[in-house]
Amino acid sequence: MGLRDFKTGDPLYTDILVIGGGNAALCAAISASDEGKSVLLIEHAPESLRGGNSQHTRNFRCMHEAPKGILAGAYSEEEYYEDLMRVTKGKTDVDLARKTIRESFSAYDWMAENGVRFQPSLGGTLSLSKTNAFFLGGGRALVNAYYNTAESKGVQFVFDAQAVRLNIEKGEFGSAIVLCKGIRHEVFASRVVVASGGFESNTDWLEEAWGPSAKNFLIRGTQFNQGLMLKELMRHRAVIVGEPDQCHAVAIDGRAPKYDGGIVTRLDCVSFGIVVDRHSQRFYDEGEDFWPKRYAIWGRLIARQPNQVGYVIIDSKAIGDFMPSVFPPLVADSVEELATTLGLEPASLKQTLDAYNAAIGDAPFDKDRLDGCRTHGLAVDKTNWARPIDTPPYYGYTLAPGITFTYMGVKVTDRAQVIFEESGPSNTIFAAGEIMAGNILGQGYLAGIGMAIGTVFGITAGREAAHGID
Ligand SMILES: Cc1cc2nc3c(=O)[nH]c(=O)nc-3n(C[C@H](O)[C@H](O)[C@H](O)COP(=O)(O)OP(=O)(O)OC[C@H]3O[C@@H](n4cnc5c(N)ncnc54)[C@H](O)[C@@H]3O)c2cc1C
Repeated sequence: MGLRDFKTGDPLYTDILVIGGGNAALCAAISASDEGKSVLLIEHAPESLRGGNSQHTRNFRCMHEAPKGILAGAYSEEEYYEDLMRVTKGKTDVDLARKTIRESFSAYDWMAENGVRFQPSLGGTLSLSKTNAFFLGGGRALVNAYYNTAESKGVQFVFDAQAVRLNIEKGEFGSAIVLCKGIRHEVFASRVVVASGGFESNTDWLEEAWGPSAKNFLIRGTQFNQGLMLKELMRHRAVIVGEPDQCHAVAIDGRAPKYDGGIVTRLDCVSFGIVVDRHSQRFYDEGEDFWPKRYAIWGRLIARQPNQVGYVIIDSKAIGDFMPSVFPPLVADSVEELATTLGLEPASLKQTLDAYNAAIGDAPFDKDRLDGCRTHGLAVDKTNWARPIDTPPYYGYTLAPGITFTYMGVKVTDRAQVIFEESGPSNTIFAAGEIMAGNILGQGYLAGIGMAIGTVFGITAGREAAHGID
């Protein structure tokens, strides 16, 4: 099973230790083992939950100058770069960004060689057939394929094993302390690749940045990204990029589980309705721009409301205009009845809805363009797609902030070396994936770039870690 005997508590020795069990870690492990080195991969999750946030993904963003595999048309380096600059507003390391973009091209073939199967985009609102290669079977299939490949190449894994401490001297790796089923092990390696994701699953840490409201955040991905390795690298004075309160957060169904709700709990009906707080008051323009350009602000907006909860209200006209979430909406024949079902005060919701309906102007509704179908004179106007909500049945969903990932991470070189404040780039400590993605994605989000960064830097980190070991 590629599984190392990790039960005795004895020290272990390997050429390369990879910490993490998602996309970046697996790419690093495969790439290092291709260089003929012994590789041990430590995954905090038990085997059944392995794969980090990568198991929830659907696609990666890939540069190509001509049609490639399932990718249509061309997506040039410059176009990709401009898309990145637009979302990050220049908060990106240009060299690392260009490396990611250029090497995403060869990454496609590397991924296919190592077991990933692609399928064309299904179309829909994001229209990604040119830019994003979708994984057949989703991220879970990708992760499983990589584990199989890694195993066939001799990589050894230990699941249920959390790296808790890094012993580092003058910016160089000594050993890692790993807790496996309550037993403490010391792992010695010539090199380490840290690919342990962000710290979004650590609500105590989120609370330090966001205050007590963070306790009500739901985490869209794994519970195992606790950020312990980032803390360790900070303790050893690695150079840090990004701020602790920067995170990607979307509005998700309030019934989603605390962790691992994944993609299917996202709610995409905000622009077709109104959103109110627990006092039935609207607080933001639901029709400010097209949903793909706005969905990522709604997590933060909901996080700022009392009890970190919002309620989206639509009527029967909106059904079919958006991708439904995995949970059915609450439904009622009257606004008051819907309010009661949602736990809102019926008269207040009715008043808000009546005021909204009465403020709508004459422009015709057109969901496919910024239609200017808007309200006038409200404290918070809705500036597009403001169709009257007046046709029963009425539908409602509760909204919660769903955290996708955090941005703060370690600064790296183009060889994926972690940079330390005093000693500079390390020769023995490398990082890949979300733990260093903030170098490239300083803010904002570009669909599919998380997996592009993790793949490109995972391959680089594994290869560079292997070089120089006798
Ligand atoms: C719902 C959802 C959908 C997404 N969809 C996409 C998409 O379609 N395309 C895209 O590009 N990006 C997407 N993303 C972002 C994407 O998931 C990340 O960019 C990517 O998975 C990061 O890979 P990673 O290997 O760095 O981290 P992860 O895949 O999260 O892996 C981190 C691993 O480290 C392990 N770990 C953590 N701490 C320790 C420790 N101390 N010791 C041992 N192991 C540890 C964890 O158990 C985990 O296995 C999505 C994210 C979410 C939540």
